[in-house]
Order: sequence, then C-alpha cells, then structure tokens
Amino acid sequence: MAARTLVESGASVVVLEARDRVGGRTRTVELGSERVDLGGQWIGPTQDRIRTLADELGVATFPQHEQGRNVRASRGRVATYRNAPPVSMLSRLELRRALRHLDERARSVPTSAPWRAENAVEWDGMTVEMWKRDALRTAGARDLVDVMVRSIFAAEPSELSFLFFLFYLNAGGGLERLSSVTGGAQERGFIGGAQQISERLAEGLGQRVQLETPVQSIEQHDGGVRVRTARGDCIGRHVIVAIPPTLAGRIEYTPPLPALRDQLTQRMPMGSVIKCVAVYPEPFWRRSGLSGQAWSDRDPIRLAFDACSHDGSQAALVGFMLGRSAREYCERPEIERREAALQSFARAFGPEARDCSAYADQNWIEERWSGGGYTGLMPPGALTECGEALRRPCGRIHWAGTETATRWVGYMDGALDAGERAANEVVKRLAR
Ligand SMILES: Cc1cc2nc3c(=O)[nH]c(=O)nc-3n(C[C@H](O)[C@H](O)[C@H](O)COP(=O)(O)OP(=O)(O)OC[C@H]3O[C@@H](n4cnc5c(N)ncnc54)[C@H](O)[C@@H]3O)c2cc1C
Repeated sequence: MAARTLVESGASVVVLEARDRVGGRTRTVELGSERVDLGGQWIGPTQDRIRTLADELGVATFPQHEQGRNVRASRGRVATYRNAPPVSMLSRLELRRALRHLDERARSVPTSAPWRAENAVEWDGMTVEMWKRDALRTAGARDLVDVMVRSIFAAEPSELSFLFFLFYLNAGGGLERLSSVTGGAQERGFIGGAQQISERLAEGLGQRVQLETPVQSIEQHDGGVRVRTARGDCIGRHVIVAIPPTLAGRIEYTPPLPALRDQLTQRMPMGSVIKCVAVYPEPFWRRSGLSGQAWSDRDPIRLAFDACSHDGSQAALVGFMLGRSAREYCERPEIERREAALQSFARAFGPEARDCSAYADQNWIEERWSGGGYTGLMPPGALTECGEALRRPCGRIHWAGTETATRWVGYMDGALDAGERAANEVVKRLAR
C-alpha cells in the first residue's frame, strides 16, 4: 500500500520482500478443491480501507456462516448455546457490567498517543490478568475474558499491558466489534482468499517488487539511504520499513537507531498462533444444528469457525491454537498438530470431525519473516516508556506495518492505514 501510494505520487519505488511470495501474514493455499486462508481472513464494518481496496481490485467478499448453536468447552464440560454463553446468571451480570466499564475506559485512550491517556501510567503498570482478577469474582466471567483475550490477541491475559489492551479495543471500535461475526471483525471473508489483495497490489507494481530479497542492513547518509540485501544494494532517498517492530529490530542500522526506538523493538513480542483447516465431505455440524463456532479453554484448538466455501461447494472447519496452546504445539511435527486439531474438532462437533479429507495448518511462530501472529503485542511498560518511538521517523527511515496504525491496529485494515500514512510522510519530504 505504501509503494502504491508513492507510485501514484510520481515517486520511483522498489519493494524488497524477504519471502518468495507477497502477502506476509496473509496466506491463501489450495486445499481440497478450494482456496483457504491460513493467515488473515476476515473483514468487518468500519474497515473501510480494506473494503474499498478489495472492491477496486475486484476481490469479492461473502458473509461468514454463523447460523446455529455455538459450542463451548469449559472446565471439561461441553455445552451448546445460541445467544449468551452457558454461564451462571451471576457471571453474566458481572461480566456485562465489567465490559461496559471496560469499553468506557477504552474510549478514553487516544489511539494516536495512548501514553497520553489520563490513567496511562497506572493502566500500563498492570496486565489484563491483573485487571481480570480485580474486576471479576466469578470463575465463569473470568473464563470468558480468557477466551476473548486469546481469540483477539493470540496471547494470554498475563502477557498484555492493560493500557495496550484498551488502546487496541478502541482502535477497533470496542470489544463487541472485535469479537463479533455479524457486525464485527469476523463478518466477511474474501472469495478466493485474502492473499489476493497483496497479489493484485503487487501485479500493479510489476517489476518494482523483488521477491526473496531479505533486507539485512540500512545505512543512512546525508543524501539518502543504502539498503543492503544478499542480492545487492538499493539506494534511495527514503526507506519505509513495513514489518513488525520486533523483526525491524533484527535489521542492522548505520548509524544505530535512536536508543528509544531500539528499546521499543525489544518490547513488542508477536502473538502465538497456529491456524488449522480441515476439509470434510459435508458440513456434518450444520446437520446437527451447530454453527461451526466453538470455544475451548483446555483443547488445543481454542477457537473454531465454519470455513465452508462461499458457494457451499466445499465443507471445512478452521481452528486456532492460541497463546499457550500454540506454544505447546509450535515445535511438534505437523502430524501431532493435525491429530490434536481433529481431536478438538471432534470434541466440539462430534466424531465425524476425525475423518477429514484434507488438512493444512500454518505455524506462524516458526515463520522467520513473521515471528508469530496475529500482531506485535505490548507487555506492561512498553507503551508509556517507548510508545512515542512507534511511528516517529528515524532520519530517512519511516515506519509502517499494522502495528503502527491508529485504527484497526493488528488487522489488515490497519496495515493499509499505516502504509498510506508512511507513504504520505515521504511524499511530503520529497516535495520539500
Ligand atoms: C493466523 C492469522 C490470522 C489473522 N486473521 C486476521 C483477520 O481475520 N483479519 C485481519 O484483518 N487480520 C488478521 N490477521 C492479521 C493480519 O494478517 C495482519 O495484520 C496484516 O497482514 C499485517 O500486514 P503488514 O503488511 O503490516 O505485515 P506483514 O503481513 O507481516 O508484511 C510484512 C512483510 O515483510 C516481509 N519481511 C519481513 N522481514 C523482512 C526483511 N528483513 N526484509 C524484507 N522483507 C521482510 C514479510 O515477509 C512480509 O511479507 C491475522 C494474522 C494471522 C497470522
């Protein structure tokens, strides 16, 4: 997106991509007879940038299936429900009150400078786990918070700063929007997969995109930058680094990055996710009145959705190993992950789930050029101590990537927002 914006302004651009493909944290593969997403997948209301771009590039969307009863496996018990999760009335009331309060607090966090929130220091001094234990007494309500946090962040509540959590919620329009299907971030998928967006953008850029060209170092001097790769050097007047901050910290810089920026890159670990898709001869769960959505606190798959193709020609389920569960499986062979995933699906949807006709997964933790997913996270102290360095250019280096967005941080829409913003910074400087 950054490259496209710059090209439109008349600048000369080259895109250096480490992998042998474009798309980064989106990846669409052939599985069975259809294309399925093993990375970023859904979009929803208020994600106007990605929606508009998809329309323009001719990538159509379709609604995520959610009709039927959902499954929740909690503390060893499996139950189905339609609207409200099966917890005690007390837990439900407690949770409702806490979440209302949470959204009020989130709205008070400025998304362009969360460290300026009135209670920034206090909130950045605690984890989401600490807030949960303080705000909620019932096990049912606490369990539901765990489920929501894992689903949205691919991390445990103990890993996240409470200020970062509030900032992220506000950037996406609140907890309800982030966690919902209809009316929320999981509302629609792309026919043919999300990776097409990057592929079509790259087609438009043509020869400017160079694959299998990891950037090793960036040198700045008075007149410009020299970017070194194993395939040779590139010189230019400015450079936009559009990768997660922790990976940006692995590039060598001459002169070295300002101290605060370097400290920031040491404080933004990636979330932990393994995404698994299983294809079936038919959507057997729909026959039993189930939606395909499931949450679990013990099974390796913590979150599942129906992943049937838009025209119903292929039946599939998608599941996520998240946080601790992803780390438990990230060094195991694919056969074990597959077994664990199918076992989880079977517990939620019935024994037919063991007999899939095709299976694929993507262990994002072991991806050298992602380092995990869905996004870069912040533990306590990172935002208030180093947050200012997130978007501030360092000389001729400008920072993009979804982590630097102020709307829909962590999502595809945020990545577009960040790319456009960084490109506009450069356009302004080129015009001087
Ligand atoms: C399993 C999973 C599910 C997700 N689900 C959703 C979803 O449903 N909806 C949603 O909106 N978002 C989702 N996301 C998040 C979304 O995919 C990301 O927010 C978005 O793709 C980030 O885009 P980006 O351009 O900022 O970074 P990236 O996609 O990470 O792009 C960075 C690029 O830089 C390359 N690179 C890295 N290091 C170097 C280097 N040294 N030199 C050269 N190139 C380098 C990488 O190969 C990569 O192509 C999901 C992510 C994952 C992993």
